[in-house]
Amino acid sequence: MSPNNDAKKEKEKDQAAARSFQAVKGMHDVLPVDEPYWEKIEGAARGLARRYGFSRIEPPVLEFAELYNKTSGEATDVVQKEMYTLKTKGGDFLALRPEYTPGIARAYMEHGMSRLPQPQRLIAMGPIFRHERPQLGRARQFTQIDLETLGGVSDPMYDAETISFFSDLLAELKIKAPILRLNSIGCRVCRPIYKKQLITYYKSHEAELCDDCRSRLESNPLRLLDCKEPECEKLKADAPSILDKLCITCSNHFKEVLEYLDEVKIPYELDPRLVRGLDYYSRTVFEFYASGPEEEIGAVAAGGRYDYLMETIGGHITPAIGGASGVERLIAVMRAKEIAPNGNGSSNGAGIASKRVFFAHAGDLSRKRSFALVKMLREKGFMVSESLAKDSLGNQLKVADKEGIGLALILGQKEMYENTVILRDLTSGIQEELSVDRLVDELKRRLSMK
Ligand SMILES: [Zn+2]
Ligand SMILES: [Zn+2]
Repeated sequence: MSPNNDAKKEKEKDQAAARSFQAVKGMHDVLPVDEPYWEKIEGAARGLARRYGFSRIEPPVLEFAELYNKTSGEATDVVQKEMYTLKTKGGDFLALRPEYTPGIARAYMEHGMSRLPQPQRLIAMGPIFRHERPQLGRARQFTQIDLETLGGVSDPMYDAETISFFSDLLAELKIKAPILRLNSIGCRVCRPIYKKQLITYYKSHEAELCDDCRSRLESNPLRLLDCKEPECEKLKADAPSILDKLCITCSNHFKEVLEYLDEVKIPYELDPRLVRGLDYYSRTVFEFYASGPEEEIGAVAAGGRYDYLMETIGGHITPAIGGASGVERLIAVMRAKEIAPNGNGSSNGAGIASKRVFFAHAGDLSRKRSFALVKMLREKGFMVSESLAKDSLGNQLKVADKEGIGLALILGQKEMYENTVILRDLTSGIQEELSVDRLVDELKRRLSMK
């Protein structure tokens, strides 16, 4: 079948999906069943950010498309192909962010953050959009935890600090023994020399290259090391290594990054073929993978130094290092490894259910008073489920059973007049009558005992 036919079929499929109101291809709903994972991951990132001294920044989802075109340099064609762009009614050409870094760099410049103590340590968490082929571990909308350290000096300690943050994040999520791959891609002095050598090497194998690689051989030879086509993969093994070509400054910088990592006992593998798709990276690049079969899901965290980015958008030379981790990928790895997102419960939230209480009314007259008591308990910080709209007590308690809640409060007409409530253990069936004044203290005692 011709690619034209494929594209036509794809278009027809998308149009059919639009007519029947399905989600857009490559975009996924986050459902309640996923919530414990999201809470765990975002909570871990937030807690670490606080301890590491990173402050939250959130640039808008829409930026001028030019911002991304400028910063991606020679890889522009790739970025443009993957960007969701739109033209506003006023004629502005905007893009949904395909990555965080350029927007944060822009905000740093626009708000004069270079006048604040340097470096600025920033964290962002939000959606990223890339129009690429959806596949395992790759969606068109996904969520990133993004870390940026901007300004100050190009100190290798900050590279190690960024790597250490992601190492800690994976540890907190119980993703054990991740693989850290590291490389340095040099600077403006040494990289051009290496690029020339790379071009010479690949020119002698031009016929064996895939079409994409042949077309970017002159403009962006580093990307050839990134190609996953089998024929190009084979050529990588004998390609010259950049680690042999680093200038003395880059070589020392990289050596120090490794020494810092040794100091905090973070294991790593050197990977001289590791490059990043975008042009503004310099020196350190890193990628974390889950160990075992989950490695296939793709890098769970990645990043690098980008000392040249600020200049491309009209700022001063500003040393910077950053990294990002995809939340959906982390969840995919946790699911595959059967890591429960909460301390003691299973993935369906049983750990949370044991902290919940169910409130039921017995008889129509007590319904409004029940509604008020539920509100009072929620204000006191309890997680209260109810099904007050149902008439029979039996039907209400069935809901408690479905939600896995073991403790119920029941209010009938008699209790209403006596200002009491019945506390029933739904597992044993044992119940007692309790005055409403004692309710909060008794619940606190029962729920923390579990
Ligand atoms: Zn260099
Ligand atoms: Zn290729």
